[in-house]
Amino acid sequence: PDQLQQGALQVVKRLVGQGYQAYLVGGCVRDGQLGRPVKDYDIATSAKPEQVQALFERTIPTGLQHGTVTVLIGRTPYEVTTFRKEGDYEGFRRPSEVEYIDNLQEDLQRRDFTMNAMAMDQDGQLIDPFHGMDDVRAGILRCVGHAAERFSEDALRMLRCLRFASEYGLRIEDSTWQALLAGKTLLRHIAMERVRAELERMLGGRNPDLALQLLVDSGVLDHTKQELQLARIVGAKPKTELGSLPGSLLRLACLYIEMQIDSAAVEEDLRLLTFSKQQIEAVRSMVAAHEMLHSLNEQSSGDEEAGTLKRIWILTALRYGVEAMHGLRQVYRQLANSQEADVHWSQEGEAWLHALPASKLSELQVTGQLLLARLDTKPGPWLGRLLGELLEAVALGLLPNDQEALLEAAQLNYAKIRETE
Ligand code: ATP
Ligand code: MG
Repeated sequence: PDQLQQGALQVVKRLVGQGYQAYLVGGCVRDGQLGRPVKDYDIATSAKPEQVQALFERTIPTGLQHGTVTVLIGRTPYEVTTFRKEGDYEGFRRPSEVEYIDNLQEDLQRRDFTMNAMAMDQDGQLIDPFHGMDDVRAGILRCVGHAAERFSEDALRMLRCLRFASEYGLRIEDSTWQALLAGKTLLRHIAMERVRAELERMLGGRNPDLALQLLVDSGVLDHTKQELQLARIVGAKPKTELGSLPGSLLRLACLYIEMQIDSAAVEEDLRLLTFSKQQIEAVRSMVAAHEMLHSLNEQSSGDEEAGTLKRIWILTALRYGVEAMHGLRQVYRQLANSQEADVHWSQEGEAWLHALPASKLSELQVTGQLLLARLDTKPGPWLGRLLGELLEAVALGLLPNDQEALLEAAQLNYAKIRETE
């Protein structure tokens, strides 16, 4: 057993040694049984939070109101939660009040799915009262107890259901699936942040295509608190295989591009979903770059001049950054499998990016300071435009990225640029 697990067993044994009941529970038991890597170990115990705090040297009161204390063994945190039963559910989310109990079985009963309702004792004995392992072996995801009740207690469980089904490649058991279809309108009570967290894990997980299929078939996206453009996949499932793109952001960009949702709408969607500024910008810039490629391409249509595509690609790269173009090229390669479009860019874009002598101002062999000194003048708005023109000329291969050549070109262009001031 690895160090992570050893720490968890140490916590369990200390509790049991003091006369309490204690077990490993939830995801770590499930993943351990399935031979999957375990990210973190959770422990359930009959000891009350104060008793747990008294028993270990280093603890953090992570969620005392829910009975959770974090115990530190070395640098590793273990969440220790007192057996509990949940009181009345409020607002279709988990309750604020909990009732402590001294019975493992009842604690397992409040959990969402049979495969998440298993425990293991200090000797490695599996406790599986709801036959979670039988279900997983049969490829089935099933609610503990009455599915409709469980989903209406906590509507987030419906999204967790789709996530676990896709992550573990499981079929959702019939009555669980029926309850999900009947209960999906309750999702309007769930904070968009929680929806985002689940979506991110579904689309970023092992099987994003199954996740997408489940999102489409269930129609849950039509019932989020805030209306999403992404919900358009419900009526029209994209043909792309997301699985060959890395990470949730490229997969999202691919979906939005395939559904032809514009970059402003994409930005709004991701903002409603509370994605971070960086995440929003990563996706938005790919979609916006795609739009620019398309409109430039349209303008030059019929123009068979060699190098036009390359020129469009490079100008777009300057505007949206090389990072966005690398992402977009991967998206195009993916889309090219399902449709004719953008084959050129998917094949040659990478080579063009590699050959770029400079893609941003910091890579240019000249600075604003040097230009001002050579032109012997004061800065103005024209300076940024001049630098931009020089960068474009270098990127397109019309000028070498060489200090003297750039200064000379600046002298030639300076008067012209000032005129348009
Ligand atoms: P992962 O960490 O990989 O998402 P996990 O099973 O550990 O999987 P957590 O969200 O960490 O999931 O929750 C730990 C355990 O708590 C779950 O296995 C489940 O037993 C229980 N649980 C979590 N959220 C809920 C919920 N909304 N309703 C009922 N039980 C839940
Ligand atoms: Mg977990």
